[in-house]
Amino acid sequence: MALLEVENLQTHFRTPEGVNRAVEGVSFHVEEGETLAIVGESGCGKSVTSMSLMRLIPPSAGRIAGSIRFDGRDLLGLPEREMRSIRGNDISMIFQEPLTSLNPVLTIGYQIGETLRLHQGLSAAEARAKAIEMLTLVGISEPARRIACYPHELSGGMRQRVMIAIALACNPRLLIADEPTTALDVTIQAQILDLMRDLKQRVGAAIVLITHDLGVVAEMAERVMVMYAGRKVEEAPVAQLFKTPRHPYTRGLLGAIPRLGSSLTGRQERLAEIPGQVPSLKNRITGCVFAGRCSQADEICRTIAPGLETKAPGHFAACHQALREEAPS
Ligand code: SF4
Repeated sequence: MALLEVENLQTHFRTPEGVNRAVEGVSFHVEEGETLAIVGESGCGKSVTSMSLMRLIPPSAGRIAGSIRFDGRDLLGLPEREMRSIRGNDISMIFQEPLTSLNPVLTIGYQIGETLRLHQGLSAAEARAKAIEMLTLVGISEPARRIACYPHELSGGMRQRVMIAIALACNPRLLIADEPTTALDVTIQAQILDLMRDLKQRVGAAIVLITHDLGVVAEMAERVMVMYAGRKVEEAPVAQLFKTPRHPYTRGLLGAIPRLGSSLTGRQERLAEIPGQVPSLKNRITGCVFAGRCSQADEICRTIAPGLETKAPGHFAACHQALREEAPS
């Protein structure tokens, strides 16, 4: 049994213009200690997927359906009190912008300690000692002095380290990192990734890494799931996806990378621009969701939605053309 098993996840939002199907029928799993990267352009459903895993979509705004099983427990069926205990304790999340995620009127020592007092029942003195230990672990100098700092007194890189310290304080079994290095400059990005890798080895946590940076994917992940218009369109082990992408959208994303070697040696490569726009998720889409931007689209693509097909062990893609490529001539 995988640590996290997601089946047919659907997250829909009510809007004045209609229902926005931000995530539509997505299934995936994450093994213990594994890093799964979720990639795609802005608005393709990556972040909504991560928020859904944590059940952070307010019921007044949207509806999550399907099945999310963590260590065999059905997260969507849990009372909110039990879900709160899982958040921060078993599953932690690092958000993209630490300044908006940290409370500006509380010291960072208090914010790290709060997690420990809440989830592990530590006393104030024990929580303070652990907060200092966590700041040391994430490479913040003079931790005993820094715990009295407020978020605005720290640099962007330090605030992200504080977020990682909070996320890892309770030794979560699953870390969800949503664009953890996007807001940081390149030097700090590399340090934060080193830190996450190091901490993954030390704590043994599984990671769901949401990113649009393929250099980060190549460095950090074992498997990749590609999302487009709220759907999973391809999934593969990372080296296989870089070598033989089967979906035209994935090929478009990988178009920015001049050659495999450069990405695997740590160069930071950004996703390529693909002409056209992601279709509105407020309308039901007939046929392939990528047809409007795909140079290979034909009549079948526009009328019949391709299902996910196995292309190789652990490699799936939803594309009629990928099927034809395999058909005997
Ligand atoms: Fe392009 Fe057709 Fe494949 Fe969709 S199914 S990605 S439109 S070739």
